[in-house]
Amino acid sequence: MVFENMESGEYEQVIYCYDRTSGLKSIIAIHDTTLGPALGGCRMWNYNSEQEALKDVLRLAKGMTYKNAAAGLNLGGGKSVIIGDPKKDKSEALFRAFGRFVESLNGRYITAEDVGTKTEDLDIVYQETNYVVGISESYGSSGNPSPVTAYGLYKSMLRTAKEAFGEESLRGKTIAIQGCGNVAYYLCKHLKEEGARLIVTDILEEAVQKFVDEFAAERVGVDEIFEVEADIFAPCALGGILNDDTIPKLKVKAVCGSANNQLEDIDRHGQMLEEREIIYAPDFIVNAGGAINVADELTGYNRERALAKAANLYNQLGLVFDIAKRDKIPTAKAANKMAEERIAAIKEIRTNFLKNEHNVYTRRK
Ligand code: NAD
Repeated sequence: MVFENMESGEYEQVIYCYDRTSGLKSIIAIHDTTLGPALGGCRMWNYNSEQEALKDVLRLAKGMTYKNAAAGLNLGGGKSVIIGDPKKDKSEALFRAFGRFVESLNGRYITAEDVGTKTEDLDIVYQETNYVVGISESYGSSGNPSPVTAYGLYKSMLRTAKEAFGEESLRGKTIAIQGCGNVAYYLCKHLKEEGARLIVTDILEEAVQKFVDEFAAERVGVDEIFEVEADIFAPCALGGILNDDTIPKLKVKAVCGSANNQLEDIDRHGQMLEEREIIYAPDFIVNAGGAINVADELTGYNRERALAKAANLYNQLGLVFDIAKRDKIPTAKAANKMAEERIAAIKEIRTNFLKNEHNVYTRRK
């Protein structure tokens, strides 16, 4: 059953981890390390069965391969799950035991925060392994990712504008923003500086008020945001908001925002946007600044470098638009294709290298 799953999804390694003292039951899935060590968070969840946990970790690990590859990171994809209730079952012993299993992989898998785990849990993991990112700032980690995520989003929006309007300027453009949270705040600083007009909404009145006061943004109701006349819609709150109900209402030329999993159904709603001739900037590329920021810890964190890498999302998104045009497919699909093509190209280089009779490894045989 496990091998069947591994074969069909081309997973490299699945590790079951058990520690009697702490009661740790964890699964680590390494999907693909072609581009580099597998980076992906550790989810703690009260799964109903081991089968459910396995299914989740496999799905998430594969998603990380695509996300890291498409963002231009030299990292592969992996993920881990700890089976347990994050409200009741956490202990120092549990996270130290988990850290020892991560350490035993010698850097093939690098863990991070995910649903159910927090910085303080990772600080404990860090007692046992260096293969962890997203630990406390006092340990020299990357801290708040939102300014870097917002910068990557801003650069992506410039690329989206170039695609939609023929020039990469946002001056005079109207941007409709759903969610006045952390990422939106730093995004609006860039947009305001550039001379864009802002329309915002949030379920929290005080969050909206801050944007009205600081950025002279126009406020609208939470349902109205889908129908406003604007150039770009930036979903920066929740997933699943591009769906059968909302897509027909949109009066924008493009969608480019930080929220994860914006399309309720990747195929169906990606296609719907395409048919309405609304350019969709795939969320997992546009919001990859967060991952880029945390991944920079691996080389000794430097915010300037993290920002420079986040700026490169402009180019990654450009490649996605090119592939979408070349293959006549929606951009959401083109993003996956770009990741697959990048991995395939590196795999080919390696295979050719190993086949070469003159290389040092072949000669030693
Ligand atoms: P946040 O919690 O600071 O802000 C989200 C805001 O959305 C909040 O103000 C909330 O009140 C508002 N909101 C919730 N439901 C809403 C609704 N129905 N309508 C309007 N507003 C609503 O979160 P954030 O850190 O700014 O992240 C925003 C999005 O970007 C999230 O989906 C997050 O997963 C994603 N993301 C964030 C980062 C990061 O670095 N922070 C990285 C990658 C992806």
